[in-house]
Amino acid sequence: MSVRKIRTKTSLLTHDETEIRIYESRPEECLTISKSLIYRFETKDFYSKNTNSRPKEWTIIHVDEDFMKDTDTLVRIATLKRKGHLFIYGKTRFGVDWDTVIERVYSRPANLCFFCDKKLKRGGPDSKRNDVKTKDHLIPGSVLDAYGIVVLEDNTVPCCITCNQEKANLHPYVYRSKLQYLLKNNHRDQKRRRKVLSTLNLILIKDHDIFE
Ligand SMILES: [Zn+2]
Repeated sequence: MSVRKIRTKTSLLTHDETEIRIYESRPEECLTISKSLIYRFETKDFYSKNTNSRPKEWTIIHVDEDFMKDTDTLVRIATLKRKGHLFIYGKTRFGVDWDTVIERVYSRPANLCFFCDKKLKRGGPDSKRNDVKTKDHLIPGSVLDAYGIVVLEDNTVPCCITCNQEKANLHPYVYRSKLQYLLKNNHRDQKRRRKVLSTLNLILIKDHDIFE
């Protein structure tokens, strides 16, 4: 049996002895999860991607993956996701420890490069400054396309231009190999590259089949 997680805004939630309900304004969009399908749930503060906003309380519900197989459930989940009330993720998809990724994105200021911690500023798309904030897709679009995945939650991270260009369209595993090669054979930019390498070691699952 495999476990999926659901992250939802606590304000939308009630629970009793037998079930948890995630409320929506339209009754047909409400989602009810029987407690027999729930392993545990926890409450956590998450920081929004907007700078200076206060943390929001979210609840993480660990559910049996069978719960997701029912069409009606999937439709309701899709509605909640569209409204930004719900995030669902498997723990280690594509060899990445998504818990650690989420923790790193939401518990730190939004203007830090995910990989090297450089402080970033807003800038136009054609800005040449290297401290401009860009977005990196941890799992590149080409890999997602190959798997027919349209949206992968929490896949976007803030990134400096240098890291973004260096990572390009590589899976984090491949990017790590590239960095290890560069650190050995090229003496430029070692401080940043060592920092990026330590971040990748933090988020990659050891000996995991990347494309599970
Ligand atoms: Zn960076």
